[in-house]
Amino acid sequence: MKILIVDDSRTIRAALEAMVKRLGHEAASAGSGNEGIEHFVRERPDLILLDVTMQDMDGYAVARRLRTLSGDDWLPIIFLSGSDEDQDLDKAIDAGGDDYLVKPVSQVVLGAKIRAMQRIDTMHRNLARLSAELEAANRELARVSREDGLTRLANRRRFDEHLRTELLRAMRNGQPLSLTLCDVDHFKGYNDHYGHTQGDECLRQVGQILHQSCRRPTDLAARYGGEEFALILPDTPLWGAAEVAERVRRAIEEHAIPHVASKAALVVTISLGVACAAPDSHLTPEQLVAWADKALYRAKETGRNRVVAASSG
Ligand code: GH3
Ligand code: MG
Ligand code: MG
Repeated sequence: MKILIVDDSRTIRAALEAMVKRLGHEAASAGSGNEGIEHFVRERPDLILLDVTMQDMDGYAVARRLRTLSGDDWLPIIFLSGSDEDQDLDKAIDAGGDDYLVKPVSQVVLGAKIRAMQRIDTMHRNLARLSAELEAANRELARVSREDGLTRLANRRRFDEHLRTELLRAMRNGQPLSLTLCDVDHFKGYNDHYGHTQGDECLRQVGQILHQSCRRPTDLAARYGGEEFALILPDTPLWGAAEVAERVRRAIEEHAIPHVASKAALVVTISLGVACAAPDSHLTPEQLVAWADKALYRAKETGRNRVVAASSG
């Protein structure tokens, strides 16, 4: 351990330093409270042996300052005092000390106290490491629970949350919000012809193109269900969303994944339905989804591989 000795007596400092070194630890010393605090800030020792009575600042004040400076990190402080009065010990613990020894201190006692502090210090470090690991695991869990495993897009849960909050925000700010639902054309035929594994790969690529089509940080591409995807576009009017949808449709067509079983084209294509909640429409998320779904149905009905924008509710 790196141990700092703070004592205004040169003789005691020298004796303690020698003892600490004999016990196998690194020793440094400071001749005043202020010097001790400066040393602490600079070197961050693992343990402090602190004299109670000093000229510039007494040990209690130094301990309080050290506690503030060390923040969440645990710093063991052992007071060394010439007084064996109960009240002094009581005050020392209150000021933030972890133990209190009466001078002169024997090497055996000092060694035992340092070992006890070392044990607590190890427990603290383990606890801090475990709670950091737990925090990281929780973050990962939160991410995974909102992400689709196949495409890495937002999953249905995240889609629902995002649509709800963005719709509320849009209404509050008097802005339009558009929603696009997309569905892969004749995907059952794709699976039947190319196999489920290649079907999954196809969905991954479609998802990637949808993800790339989201240009604003508040836009969200999500996997809505099996081979259905959605785009949430805040602050976007219907015509803007229809433009984005057309760009996505073309990008997927141009990506040219062969699909000989499709009746809509020779390659994988998607149909898209776009709907927009006007700032004063007070639509619920469910109503907006139903509206976009109706437009998507019309895109399917009228030949697939196309965009249909809902004209009204
Ligand atoms: P339409 O053009 O009318 O949309 O025809 P479709 O064949 O795409 O529609 P349908 O809803 O009949 O079929 C969807 C298919 O998508 C059926 C299902 O097996 C497949 N599918 C859904 N989720 C997945 C998935 O995660 N991986 C794979 N490979 N296929 C999936
Ligand atoms: Mg479908
Ligand atoms: Mg489909």
